[in-house]
Amino acid sequence: MAQQAMPDDGRFPGAPTACADPEEVLFRVFGHPGFRGRQEEVVRHVAGGGSGLVLMPTGGGKSLCYQVPALCRPGTGVVVSPLIALMEDQVAALRQQGVAAAALHSDLPEGEGRAILRDLHEGRLKLLYVSPERLLLDGMLARLETLPIGLFAIDEAHCVSQWGHHFRPEYRGLNVLADRFPHVPRVALTATADPRTVEDIRAQLALSDAPVFRGGFDRPNIRIEAAPREQERAQLRALLKEQAGQPGAGIVYCGTRARTEQTAEWLRADGQDALAFHAGMDGGAKRDAHRRFARGDSVIMCATIAFGMGIDRPDVRWVVHLDLPRSPESWYQEIGRAGRDGLPARALLLYGAGDIALARHRIEDSPAGPEQKRIERQRLEAMVAIAEAATCRRKLLLRCFAEPAEFENCCNCDVCLAPPRLFDGTVAAQKLLSAVLRTRLPSGGHFGLGHVVDVLRGRMTEKVAQFAHDRLPTFGVGKDVSDQGWRSVARQLVARGALDVAVENHGELVPTETARPILKGEAQLMLREDLSRPAAASAGAAPRAGRPAAAPSGDPRFEALRDWRRREAQAQAVPAYVIFQDKTLAEIASARPRSLDQLAAIPGVGRTKLERYGAGVLAVLAEAG
Ligand code: ADP
Ligand code: ZN
Repeated sequence: MAQQAMPDDGRFPGAPTACADPEEVLFRVFGHPGFRGRQEEVVRHVAGGGSGLVLMPTGGGKSLCYQVPALCRPGTGVVVSPLIALMEDQVAALRQQGVAAAALHSDLPEGEGRAILRDLHEGRLKLLYVSPERLLLDGMLARLETLPIGLFAIDEAHCVSQWGHHFRPEYRGLNVLADRFPHVPRVALTATADPRTVEDIRAQLALSDAPVFRGGFDRPNIRIEAAPREQERAQLRALLKEQAGQPGAGIVYCGTRARTEQTAEWLRADGQDALAFHAGMDGGAKRDAHRRFARGDSVIMCATIAFGMGIDRPDVRWVVHLDLPRSPESWYQEIGRAGRDGLPARALLLYGAGDIALARHRIEDSPAGPEQKRIERQRLEAMVAIAEAATCRRKLLLRCFAEPAEFENCCNCDVCLAPPRLFDGTVAAQKLLSAVLRTRLPSGGHFGLGHVVDVLRGRMTEKVAQFAHDRLPTFGVGKDVSDQGWRSVARQLVARGALDVAVENHGELVPTETARPILKGEAQLMLREDLSRPAAASAGAAPRAGRPAAAPSGDPRFEALRDWRRREAQAQAVPAYVIFQDKTLAEIASARPRSLDQLAAIPGVGRTKLERYGAGVLAVLAEAG
């Protein structure tokens, strides 16, 4: 796909030596009326020859931070990117915009690689995407030294750091760029906000003296929800039902490889277009999954966190976590893949007491040093606090990135939309803890939650009879609370560290030191009343000012434009969103332009797209009436 024909004249705008104004490039090539956030600052800095590090959340608009300067500067911009699928999609999108771009990596048939190098030498490329290993081949660096290079962009720069989850040893070699190309600006980009990783990137890429541009991390269009995992399939189905009819893709993050496959399987049995992705798959299968995800109409990816980089689709409408993420940072990265187009998107986190306990045990049992463990413990507890929050989840999340929130109530998380009721749970907690203690076996072992709830609710099961637990004073003292209610109390005790779950030992419940003051009545315990399902249904709540409207699915003009786009994308074998994003189609559908000039005024319609598709779009509109 990367090797489709070059745009007609093969160059932008004019010869690659052309120097242009960033604002003009933004409008003419990308069709955007203005820069966002700190983009303009970065673009002007890099276009003027400066190096720097850009930290922006996923969807923040990092690509333009190097694409616009590359088009403004003489020579070719070289973009280092870790994933072939990502490079190919970016190149496809650039070519749609009339930019002469190509991707060079180890997977190309020989002839195609040679053709790209020839274009490079003849000055026909404005942007060259290249994998780090291909770039660092000595012949390649020597070749670039003889050519006018406009800039180096190092995308997904956290791959250089061992602290992150995506360490790529080849990235370490990129430190040679500073020595070998001292006059070429280098811009590194990442969505990671973790301070240690950031310092590591600066040191590894010789950017310690260069400025850091940090964008705001809030993503107000993503609705954040968390709920105890009661029946995950039913919970996921409920979300899918609410999303039905909306264009775009979804991602289900799972804690294990096996779970990705099982989940994809039952979703397929439900009639969904679902795929699995995890690190155990071979390169070809991964690439295939990426490609199907990029092109699918309403496709669902069930994946481990290995699926992340390279998701360029702007219309991922929802992200669900079936298991507790290990830190707010990683959760934020993962949910940030939703709604890059700025339209409403959703993030739902499902979790249980077992997840919390298991994650804690993993940290304690890991070979990491005490300092590392302390940091990981802190991250995990911050994640648990967000999951269990009775106040705005977005505020808690932003606090993890040292970003003060300018609102009390974000109006777009489940807590703000439907504040949970708190109740004095001290007596309930005492009953539960005492049932756990009184059912302890002489051997010292404890029972799991199922049996403890049976005892509390006074159910005469075989096990109760066998151990004579019906003679305990706690037998039947909790009849007034449902099973679900007891599970909720237990989970909140686990979250607060008063109970531990020996996940590896049939979920045995073990009280901790923290339980003591609760049992003695020295600590009052406010617990949240769990809703039986996530507050998702509160979709009718008043939107915060400026919240974008959803794509108008069902509007005949919008649907006709989508049909037209699907045909175009298929004919060219590119992802649909590189032709026009949903957002752009929605604006076209509502503005109903009647001339090319009117169409050109719509954000997302650059000059090349106008030339290529203008007549087609106007014809679709004329027909749809
Ligand atoms: P990132 O790489 O930071 O995740 P992208 O560069 O993919 O983000 O941009 C996210 C989305 O925002 C894209 O759909 C892009 O078209 C859009 N976008 C970025 N900058 C602007 C802008 N200045 N005006 C309008 N849309 C923009
Ligand atoms: Zn909120």
